[in-house]
Amino acid sequence: MVSMTNSLKINVVTIPEEGLNVVLSEDGAWFKESFPDSEKLDFALCKVDINCLLTKTASTIFIRGKLSAIIDICCSRCLEETKLPLGADFSYTLIPVEAENEEDLELKTEELEISHYQGDFINLTPMICEQIILQIPIKALCSEDCKGLCSHCGSNLNVSACNCHLDVADNPMAVLKNFKVKN
Ligand SMILES: [Zn+2]
Ligand SMILES: [Zn+2]
Repeated sequence: MVSMTNSLKINVVTIPEEGLNVVLSEDGAWFKESFPDSEKLDFALCKVDINCLLTKTASTIFIRGKLSAIIDICCSRCLEETKLPLGADFSYTLIPVEAENEEDLELKTEELEISHYQGDFINLTPMICEQIILQIPIKALCSEDCKGLCSHCGSNLNVSACNCHLDVADNPMAVLKNFKVKN
């Protein structure tokens, strides 16, 4: 049976041959604490569920897992705050830094998935934060068919229709009212 832990700080010595399953949930306070620059981000984490498996061969650690998160973010169309679910599969390979010479280090870090660890402990926190941030959409929407704001009067068209569009649509002659007829 695979061993389980609910900690993001792992002593690599304790990873058994069959692997170590890391299962836990974290909240917004954890994210703020783990990611000091989160003040500058345009979203807030509500919750993240993490489930990953750590295995090791010699001193190389393999991490395969998935996370699902809920964030608070403003819809880019209607500007209302909305809860957005995110999901990601991720994998990392960690090699101990002392086993590397500098040349190898340069080569390996070109591959995104390879990171390093030092000493007996690895901390999954930066990887989880990185994965959450990678999943943030550039343009978040409260729903695929969000109607957004009226470009004319600014009302949220999801909440109520305004009269700006009606004027044009109901009266085809409205577009002609600015033309002056030459005599
Ligand atoms: Zn919206
Ligand atoms: Zn309007």
